[in-house]
Amino acid sequence: MRNVVIIGSGCAGNTAAIYTGRANLKPLVVQGHEAGGQLSITSEVENFPGFPEGVLGPVLVENMKKQAERFGAEYLHGAVLEADLSQYPFRIRVEDEWIETRTLIIASGASARWVGLPNEQKLIGRGVSSCATCDGFFYRGKKIMVIGGGDSAMEEANFLTRFGSEVALVHRRDTFRASKIMLDRARANPKIKFITNTVVEDVLDVGKGVVTAVKLRNVVTNHTWEQEVDGFFVAIGHIPNTAVFRGQILTDADGYILSQGGARTNIPGVFHAGDVQDRNYRQAITAAGAGCMAAIEAERFLEAEGH
Ligand code: NAP
Repeated sequence: MRNVVIIGSGCAGNTAAIYTGRANLKPLVVQGHEAGGQLSITSEVENFPGFPEGVLGPVLVENMKKQAERFGAEYLHGAVLEADLSQYPFRIRVEDEWIETRTLIIASGASARWVGLPNEQKLIGRGVSSCATCDGFFYRGKKIMVIGGGDSAMEEANFLTRFGSEVALVHRRDTFRASKIMLDRARANPKIKFITNTVVEDVLDVGKGVVTAVKLRNVVTNHTWEQEVDGFFVAIGHIPNTAVFRGQILTDADGYILSQGGARTNIPGVFHAGDVQDRNYRQAITAAGAGCMAAIEAERFLEAEGH
């Protein structure tokens, strides 16, 4: 029987582990499919307080994990495949093992969203990617395309100019969701070419087993064309990882957990932290803050229950 199980090992989960570890609750962190969360696939983080020169995302998240382990947090490989929150203590299944816990902190984050093109999934790892930091290196001197109009797309496009001979940034509108500073930086980068009011209709060529080109359509003129590319990077947002809790935890229509105030979900003893609930801020620092809140709520809950 565990006092605290934390699902997810990104900024939110690790911070919850640091706090519950220091409260002597010996938290168990289930790392999930994407250990380290979004930070582990980010390059430079310039806006996390305390790092005037910036810090690499993977370094930041690994340091958080070490800090939590120092206070007794345990990390378990694997993902939660099933959850039963209808009885107390709660039960979750990680691979083949059922684990019982008095409190649960859901910090399972959100995963990359795909465009949904006919051949997109067939070419993942063969030119289609959702992670510039992971795959950019493979496109040295090649033609790269990035899809999206948010901060992720700007960040990925900028990062990919280190490798690609050219980077085309394709966005379906001509106004951007990205923050001004990120947009300005991308605009100032001579290697990035903006293609706006344009949607992707498909990525080619499944026959050859690699990405060779992309079919594009201008939504204003309806003009369609094929553009040669080697790397196709999708940066169009994320989907919250709440599928295993469907029907048990209250979520909004997109699957984001609906907060009942603080870090509380609709189930007493089950708390949320980070991107799994937050569709608005989604920053490393807000996720860390949310992890802290969830940990404090879990401590108080256990205290009230007499543990
Ligand atoms: P986002 O802000 O939700 O932007 C997603 C973009 O993808 C939008 O431009 C959207 O277009 C487009 N899009 C969505 N579905 C699409 C589809 N099916 N086909 C084509 N385009 C599609 O997501 P994000 O850029 O991942 O950013 C998420 C959060 O993380 C934000 O709060 C952001 O500030 C933060 N972030 C910060 C940094 C940083 O500061 N270093 C870096 C990355 C992310 P529309 O605009 O037309 O809807």
